[in-house]
Amino acid sequence: MKKTVVLYPGLGVGHLTPMVQLAKVFLQHDVDVTVALVEPPIKAPDFSAVVAREAASNPSITFHVLPQSSSAPEASNSDGTPKHHIVQIFDFLGAMKEPLRDFLRSLPAVDALVIDMFCPDALDVAAELELPVYFFYASAAGDLAVFLHMPSFQAKMTTSFQELGDDAVLSLPGAPPFKVVDMPADAIKDSEAAKLIWRMFERMPESDGILVNTFESLETRAVNALRDGLCVPERATPPIYCIGPLVSAGGAEKEHECIRWLDTQPDNSVVFLSFGSLGTFPKKQLQEMAIGLEKSGQRFLWVVRTPPGDDHKFGEPLPEPDLEALLTDGFLERTKERGLVLKSWAPQVDVLHHRATGAFVTHCGWNSTLEGITAGLPLLCWPLYAEQRLNKVFIVEEMKLGVEMRGYNEEIVKAEEVETKVRWVVESEDGQALRERVAAAKERAVEALKEGGSSHAAFVQFLKDLEAVSR
Ligand code: UDP
Repeated sequence: MKKTVVLYPGLGVGHLTPMVQLAKVFLQHDVDVTVALVEPPIKAPDFSAVVAREAASNPSITFHVLPQSSSAPEASNSDGTPKHHIVQIFDFLGAMKEPLRDFLRSLPAVDALVIDMFCPDALDVAAELELPVYFFYASAAGDLAVFLHMPSFQAKMTTSFQELGDDAVLSLPGAPPFKVVDMPADAIKDSEAAKLIWRMFERMPESDGILVNTFESLETRAVNALRDGLCVPERATPPIYCIGPLVSAGGAEKEHECIRWLDTQPDNSVVFLSFGSLGTFPKKQLQEMAIGLEKSGQRFLWVVRTPPGDDHKFGEPLPEPDLEALLTDGFLERTKERGLVLKSWAPQVDVLHHRATGAFVTHCGWNSTLEGITAGLPLLCWPLYAEQRLNKVFIVEEMKLGVEMRGYNEEIVKAEEVETKVRWVVESEDGQALRERVAAAKERAVEALKEGGSSHAAFVQFLKDLEAVSR
């Protein structure tokens, strides 16, 4: 009989988009799939737009919006101060246990539940309903190797990360040496948010397996460390299935003004700057970028957002930027022949795959990283938040598919650095060598996904293992 799985992506575009790609893989393998959606408490317009677009273009996937929980969690602490946004996310998703359970019970048959990393409470629901449960890890295997290790690593630490200091070097299985400051900022503080983050990784081994959005040859060291059980030293590591890269194919935005503009530009000439679904900069940094781009003399396509004010809550939508007021005087006019600035959002995948795009300045979010690699573009790494600094370490030092923008970890990335790196990537021989390395990685990604390739084989193995556990 045909199997049915329910995917539970949690919140946020960066988690939803790859989960929808995963849904398509299930369909290709003749498994029915329902995506159980949670309406984000913060009404981010791009989330609703992404859901609407994905639902329209994937009619074979059932999308079901779970009703709000009857026990909505408090957004404030007992002293009236607002809770940290990560605590709010966990509280909110924790309260969704009941609606998720009721929904799963209402279905005639479910063979497995596949959950996002931010939904560890769904493990309890799966246990109650005796359902096989898998995590879908939508970031690098390298991050997973480091983060799965952290609960036991920290249990043995005699000092806190703060006492160790930002520059202390950590050497862990599956990763090149990296600094404490490369870890997610919210995870290395002594805080409720950090406790919840590490609790999430502590619980991951309770699952029947972890599907990772990567491919083996991209992250050999990390995948081997995970498989060899080195990252969860005192417990059994669940099976790890590297089934990626799962990225959207794009192709829907041919009429967008930036695609039309790219149509008029030479091959591989345009540097694309985009910083994920949430990346923002202060005005001073935007101006510095503008000066650097202008001085570089190169072509560019740049997504600019309004700098958040002091009272802005992370993730909340921002108003459209006033480009004239934000960027240096006359910048738009002076660069209009060779540059285009987009307000707030770009059809990123279509831009990356355009023949005119030649390099990608990225915040190193994992979807953007995979989208850049599968488009064969050299990555200029400018990490901002969450696990992006660690991703940068893997991209630059392990994969050798990018270089860092110096100053990302200081107060400002200077105009000269923007100018130098943008020129370097487009004009230099080393920039060309980097392009060739990414082109080779792109080919390996294509091979991995083909029938018989490592990611295809991993998915087939996962389905076999699921068959065995659900018996
Ligand atoms: N994205 C986009 N247009 C934009 C910014 C982002 O289409 O202007 C998409 C991008 O293609 C990617 C996702 O949003 O699929 C961002 O995910 P990522 O993991 O890179 O970063 P996050 O937003 O989670 O930090």
